[in-house]
Amino acid sequence: MMISPKFTELVRALRCLPSVGAKTAQRMALQLIERDRIGAQHLADMIEQALGGIGRCKQCQALSETSMCTICADQTRNKSQLCIVESLTDWMAIEQSGAFQGYYFLLSGRLSPLDGIGPQEIGIEWLRLRLEDPAIEEVILATSATIEGEATANYLMTMMKDDQYHVTRLAQGVPMGGELEYLDGHTLALAMKSRRPITEG
Ligand SMILES: [Zn+2]
Repeated sequence: MMISPKFTELVRALRCLPSVGAKTAQRMALQLIERDRIGAQHLADMIEQALGGIGRCKQCQALSETSMCTICADQTRNKSQLCIVESLTDWMAIEQSGAFQGYYFLLSGRLSPLDGIGPQEIGIEWLRLRLEDPAIEEVILATSATIEGEATANYLMTMMKDDQYHVTRLAQGVPMGGELEYLDGHTLALAMKSRRPITEG
């Protein structure tokens, strides 16, 4: 029997973090309450500020403190290219590789029908709106080389098959089952450079 119900609640709340099981959550809670209350208060403040101050970019759906993120607001980028990614970590990995100068669109994950995650859940309607931009000439599908990432790419390909732009897919260098975020910048840059067309625009 736990001596403090509030402590029990804190442990339970910490389990919302990825890869945090019961034991780790208990260790974290002890650290916050017993050993580092100043750090704990700082963490609480930061979470509150982040939740209040960070929203989504209305154009690419990435995290942003303003209605349009710094990349979408940057008029010097290549307007003819739109790169579709499935996670913010992939988005950042591609951006850090320096191989891409166009704009991005961030899906809220990838299709996984068995888990009930369909087109609506990953934000397809926002993507459709973004794709109405007449400046777009090439859409690059940069979803991961996992089964779900491929399924998502296939879905998008079918959705865009009658549209006016070329659709390409990241090429070699992305191993099957590969999560983009784990690729080094050079490999990712190569995959971006050698992307292959999958439809004729
Ligand atoms: Zn944006």
